[in-house]
Amino acid sequence: MAEKVGFIGLGIMGKPMAKNLMQAGYELVVNNRSPEKAEELEREGATAAKSPREVAGQSDIIITMLPDSPDVREALTGENGVLEGIEEGALVVDMSTISPVVTEELAAVIGEKGASMLDAPVSGGDVGAVEGTLSIMVGGLEGDFERSKPLFEVMGKTVTHVGPTGAGQVTKACNQIVAALTIEAVSEALVLGSKGGVAPEKILDVLSGGLAYNKIMEVKREKLLSHTFDPGFRAELHHKDLGIALAAGREYGVALPVTAIVDQMLLSMKRKGWGGEDHSALLKVIEDLSQHETGS
Ligand code: NAD
Repeated sequence: MAEKVGFIGLGIMGKPMAKNLMQAGYELVVNNRSPEKAEELEREGATAAKSPREVAGQSDIIITMLPDSPDVREALTGENGVLEGIEEGALVVDMSTISPVVTEELAAVIGEKGASMLDAPVSGGDVGAVEGTLSIMVGGLEGDFERSKPLFEVMGKTVTHVGPTGAGQVTKACNQIVAALTIEAVSEALVLGSKGGVAPEKILDVLSGGLAYNKIMEVKREKLLSHTFDPGFRAELHHKDLGIALAAGREYGVALPVTAIVDQMLLSMKRKGWGGEDHSALLKVIEDLSQHETGS
């Protein structure tokens, strides 16, 4: 019999991921802090649960897709949390991007209940979530990875077991460094090029044909050119992710100098009221520093 799947956190990413699992034939029990999102999936055949505890009581595998470390900690160990309802032998799969240190702590308390946990953060954005083409990087035991693989293969295209507990989150931190620093570099190129009299679309076209090619220029092209920054991936979440990377760098004694600078730029976006915009709105920080709007 197919495993019964619980899904907690039905936001920009979680909702389409849950829908893909339902379309693949899995029976889902869902929960979200604001209940309307769970009710929407209920109309499509899922069972809506009132709390993470209720999800855990009805599920063999419990997936979480929540914003940050405190949210995952709350959903798992808080009042009416997963730990209060989890059965022995159950598996928690946290697909949120959170701290590897918090991941290890949560995996240990889940282990005390005779259950286990994988960290399985994703990249590929809202489009990857809708299309079921996410990249999924998994930390934890090999047996737990094999058990969850059929679910991962519904939600993602590239599924990789990268190491023990926490290794998925470390890999995701590496991914977030490269994504943020690339957006920043593309932004600098666009502002310099534009101020120098070259149209932004020409800069993107030409750079796409050579060594400077990167996927940001393709995926974020329309947003960058039209200055419409509806998310996508919110700048404030990317700021959270660079915080995770910097904390890991401190823990492991690794210098991340440019990550620290871009972290400060993302912080300033939050102060300017741009935290809810797509992370590609980092372009506006460079435009602001240079007092030049690209394309103008
Ligand atoms: P989101 O804010 O859109 O969704 C989070 C959902 O969790 C919301 O619906 C919220 O109501 C719910 N929630 C929060 N706390 C809860 C709790 N205690 N119990 C139940 N529900 C709760 O965020 P998102 O964009 O879907 O991102 C989720 C995670 O995925 C984050 O860690 C993010 O960094 C990561 N991520 C996002 C993207 C992206 O492009 N949006 C890409 C890759 C990874």
